[in-house]
Amino acid sequence: LVLPLSSVFHAVGLVQRGMGAYQRIDEALRLPVEPTGLPASARRPAGPPVTGEHPALALHDVHFAYDPRRPVLRGVTFAVPHRRFVALVGPSGAGKSTVFALVARFYEPDAGAVVFDGRPAAELTRAACRGGIAVVHQNSHVVHGTLRDNIAYAVPEATEEELRRVIELARLEEVVDRLPGGLSAVVGERGSTLSGGERQRIALARALLVRPSLLLLDEPTSHLDSINESALTTVLKDVAQECALLVIAHRLSTVQHADRIVVMRDGRTVAAGCHEELLTRSALYRELAASQMLRSGGDAVPG
Ligand code: ATP
Repeated sequence: LVLPLSSVFHAVGLVQRGMGAYQRIDEALRLPVEPTGLPASARRPAGPPVTGEHPALALHDVHFAYDPRRPVLRGVTFAVPHRRFVALVGPSGAGKSTVFALVARFYEPDAGAVVFDGRPAAELTRAACRGGIAVVHQNSHVVHGTLRDNIAYAVPEATEEELRRVIELARLEEVVDRLPGGLSAVVGERGSTLSGGERQRIALARALLVRPSLLLLDEPTSHLDSINESALTTVLKDVAQECALLVIAHRLSTVQHADRIVVMRDGRTVAAGCHEELLTRSALYRELAASQMLRSGGDAVPG
């Protein structure tokens, strides 16, 4: 009796999670259709990224609640300048993913403002805001197809030169050289196997090909071993030369070289600075670093 019953409970859990996911998809699909200020597919021209007087993204004292009885963001303020790498760290439940959801405009703030390049999001269409944003999630999927298809997924008309550029940026040359057929090698479910880190770097190349003004990475290394983590970490600084980069990270080692690290707790931004500054200034950051055995200079303390 125990085994069938536990299967039933497991199935009920799956259905509940599925319903939650369905509701979120449903919410997204129900967002009002708006006239677009910019085509969603608009890509910035080749060449140096936009550099303006305004940061690519700024949040000003943002407040938000999914349920009005339980505030989730209670004063979030930070900026991501063009060509800068900014990280968002903090304990679980601090509100980091919620910040991403507001930046992607799946939700609107209850108070405060999200501002893109000096223009308040509230004055822009959702499509205009999203047109300049690319997101890489923690579990990047590779579809069955060639390596080229996987990278050029969103921009099938990309030239060889554009492909080479993002392959170099995402440090995928070694993968292209290793796979028989290079860019024409079939990868994915029935093709060549790729490591989690390689899949993440393919997702990164795919996102960079769109030439976003702002790139959001959500826990890019959470499922990677330390070798793959370090490979991706070294890529991030270069990526920030292309666009504004905002990374949510549990592992401080992924973002210790960020230009600025913003620390969140209980829905508030409580400290910001570079790794060294935060080690001296923020007790919470020191705690997070200590729990991950990071010391000044960012080296992991040998276990
Ligand atoms: P983690 O590091 O664990 O991913 P986080 O800092 O990204 O956490 P969020 O995922 O933004 O935090 O969650 C902040 C709070 O909002 C949590 O209490 C969470 O339960 C709640 N929350 C997140 N998403 C939803 C949602 N869609 N509906 C209702 N509450 C939510």
